Amino acid sequence: MTENKIHKTYTTISIPPNGMVTAEDLEKIVAIAKKYDVPTMKITGAQRVAFLGMEPGQLSAMKKELNIPDKPPHARNRLHHVQTCPGSIWCKYGQQDSLALADRLRDLELKGPLPYKVKVGISGCRMCCCESWVRDVGLVGNKSGWRLIFGGNAAGKPRIGEIVSEKLSEDEAVALVEKCLNFYIENAKYKTRSARFMERFGIEELKKGVLG
Ligand code: SF4
Repeated sequence: MTENKIHKTYTTISIPPNGMVTAEDLEKIVAIAKKYDVPTMKITGAQRVAFLGMEPGQLSAMKKELNIPDKPPHARNRLHHVQTCPGSIWCKYGQQDSLALADRLRDLELKGPLPYKVKVGISGCRMCCCESWVRDVGLVGNKSGWRLIFGGNAAGKPRIGEIVSEKLSEDEAVALVEKCLNFYIENAKYKTRSARFMERFGIEELKKGVLG
């Protein structure tokens, strides 16, 4: 351990969703941070706020006040990591409404437990601020609708995802994401990320399973 390392505990909160905050939201976060003397905070890649460097006692009291369970009841048949840009509502380049799509994907109930972590990146235009090509599920908006990409990964063995379909309406995009994830659930071994699954299975097999 280096001299400067602070080995304490932390928690993250994902309120409000989509990383969109008002001045009132920020004031609440600041008030909590001051009340519990939180040493520092981090905006995470999953668009949550992490409270870092806390003593275990402080952390328990804070979680109680925020109604955060000690072990979050993560339903494995739901998506927990949906990262989105502001999209057409808030960004002048946006061509599709990323925020609305993110809310619908977060509500999806899949057929069963996902084999492994699934990260979703939704970008409202081709500038791809949410790095949709290197997410398990990537969505990119353009004038004609949504492009769906599957099987990307930005970790130790990066992989660029492949296009499943294009020119999708919001309803079609939601339905096709659900089909792709259910296909992954039915065919991938436990603890296989979508990138490794796609290397073995191939985009054409996925398309056969989910299109038409
Ligand atoms: S991806 Fe496009 S719409 Fe989304 S924030 Fe970036 S520039 Fe704006």
